[in-house]
Amino acid sequence: MTNDPRPSDPIDPQELRRALSGTFFGVDLRYHATLESTNSLLKSLAANGAPDGTVVVADAQTGGRGRVGRSWLSLPGANLLFSILLRARVEPEQVFALTMILAVSAAEVLHRRTGVAARIKWPNDLYAGQRKLAGILTEFGVKGSSVDYVVLGMGLNVQWHPAGQEEIRGPATSVRMETGKVFPRADLLVRILKEFENSYGAFLNGDTHLIYSKWNDLSLILGRNVMVETGAETIRGRAVRIDQTGALILELESGVRRKILCGDVSLRLE
Ligand code: ATP
Repeated sequence: MTNDPRPSDPIDPQELRRALSGTFFGVDLRYHATLESTNSLLKSLAANGAPDGTVVVADAQTGGRGRVGRSWLSLPGANLLFSILLRARVEPEQVFALTMILAVSAAEVLHRRTGVAARIKWPNDLYAGQRKLAGILTEFGVKGSSVDYVVLGMGLNVQWHPAGQEEIRGPATSVRMETGKVFPRADLLVRILKEFENSYGAFLNGDTHLIYSKWNDLSLILGRNVMVETGAETIRGRAVRIDQTGALILELESGVRRKILCGDVSLRLE
């Protein structure tokens, strides 16, 4: 499957709004042909009182970000680049669970709709086999000691992936590369947002068991030996599970179990 030229797959914001009307994400959807970053815009909207469930979608980003200042690449007209705003009363320790809910929602939709068996590479990526298909960037603001807002941003390679570009550190893929087919971006986005709404609702009701088992079932790393870089140290061990808060439980060679909070850690399979 060639990576480029891209097939025509326009996003019609009116159609998105219609498809989402009446849902949690049907309140305020902003679409931009080009933005610096959907997360950056949504954070500033959040600071100015944007409502729970606001969505920002861009066709292209000039400063797409991953974590710790890494860049997220995407060609115009090709992929999904979106951010969602959540204003639920959650504790800072619960924020990471929201990242996992988005990862699970996207993985489930991809599997059902496209057949791609996406797996979650803790803490924030989706992989198809050994290739990166999507990344999530979670940012949140606090007021006092509680969470004021959470912005979850996702870049999902639908029609194009940047493998071979100098900035890319590992292999990348897209839905089109995996399937050889063109799945419209807008349809995938609507499905992911609806799926997220269901799981998020269950999570807020305290019904966390199902989502918790899904993010373990869909994990790429469980049972495997991994190396985690926290910035302060490098830790090697076997990934045992991802706990209720989204933290990774590693079993070190000594048999001791260690809990790794997601923060800005980087993980490699060994
Ligand atoms: P890693 O797990 O590879 O150490 P990360 O998960 O910490 O990286 P992120 O912040 O999630 O990194 O994503 C940024 C990185 O993803 C970039 O440094 C680049 O290597 C890679 N990347 C950028 N754009 C894409 C893309 N469209 N598809 C796949 N990978 C990409």
